[in-house]
Amino acid sequence: MKVAVRTLCEFAAREGDLDFRYTPAPSAEEGIAGHQVIQSKRGYGYKSEYSLTGKCLGLELYGRADVYNPHSGLLEEIKTHRGDLSRIRPHQRALHRAQLRAYGALLCRQENRKTLKLALVYFDMGKNRETPVTETARADELWQELETLCERYRLWAEQEAHHREQRDIRLAGLRFPFAQFRPRQRQLAETVYKNTVKGGSLLLEAPTGLGKTLGTLFPALMAMPAAAHDKLAYLTCRNTARQLAVDAVERLRAAQDAPQIWPLRTLELVAKADACEHPDKACHGDSCPLAKGFFDRLPDARAEAAQAGTTLTQDVLATIAVGHNICPYFLAQEMARWCDLVIGDVNRMFDQAALLHGLTRQNNWKTGVLIDEAHNLVDRGRGMYSVQLDQQRLLKVKKTAPKA
Ligand code: SF4
Repeated sequence: MKVAVRTLCEFAAREGDLDFRYTPAPSAEEGIAGHQVIQSKRGYGYKSEYSLTGKCLGLELYGRADVYNPHSGLLEEIKTHRGDLSRIRPHQRALHRAQLRAYGALLCRQENRKTLKLALVYFDMGKNRETPVTETARADELWQELETLCERYRLWAEQEAHHREQRDIRLAGLRFPFAQFRPRQRQLAETVYKNTVKGGSLLLEAPTGLGKTLGTLFPALMAMPAAAHDKLAYLTCRNTARQLAVDAVERLRAAQDAPQIWPLRTLELVAKADACEHPDKACHGDSCPLAKGFFDRLPDARAEAAQAGTTLTQDVLATIAVGHNICPYFLAQEMARWCDLVIGDVNRMFDQAALLHGLTRQNNWKTGVLIDEAHNLVDRGRGMYSVQLDQQRLLKVKKTAPKA
């Protein structure tokens, strides 16, 4: 049972409200750039991206500490932000600190240290300014805290390991839902299967009516155990194509023996505008009632969603969310961590702050990716990586701008 330290902390150390008020946060790219600025400032003797591993209560933990100086015994965790630091809420700071201390616990074990200096470094990208929050901690107290987090996560991890086993057994013996393939659909499916197992890239052109959705989804799912894939992302450029994929999964499920036992967690990710229950409010506890206490009620909602046994569509998630009085959109974001197949827009993998890309990196997942109508990626990519400057707004701001 392997788990990234960050995932462990996000699972076991988050509480309170949803809150994005300390945004505008830097983009993923800016965040990486910010880390590099600080790491380069530290100079000789410092190690950046310091690899840490360890075992705690049967869990194999791994992660990378941002900066470590073995000579002075200082471990640093960098958090980039923009704007007033006081806007970062106490429970968000608590999560950052929990992560730093978890790294500290692993480091003390790994390097046989009795004490460690810890620094949570908030780096303001706009002002190029560091604000460190430092403390010194004992190895035994750090380890005790780590055990508490692992204790909270362990039951879930055991359930997840069991789920993975059941999922892989079912997928390896997956049955095609029709008696026969359509002409050339078998060839398509075989090509996708072989390619998935060997981990290659494939560009396919196939005519309408050949049955591409099932002809690619079926073999990609079936190959997941052999390819040791953790996740499969089915990405589309249109909502109607997303619905086709959801229907294809349902058709697959119905064609299997004992379809009521279906250990393939499938999630349909929809846009925030479509899932939000309070479009007139902001995503924090002082504005939206579904953000208030979100993380306190999330564990029960997450457990229910994980056991749902059906595709987590927008409607299914909305029903679960309402039962726990939490936001359905952010429940879906959470479930992206725990589902095997995620069906969503291409921006979920390719945007600058793409959820699936971020989770794949964070958790070292092996993720298979199927992209429907991939020729649209050029245009969609332009949209994702371009900025629009409004002339009216620019002229208005120019009047009040200080001298360069
Ligand atoms: S319901 Fe809407 S406003 Fe409220 S937290 Fe969810 S997305 Fe944000």
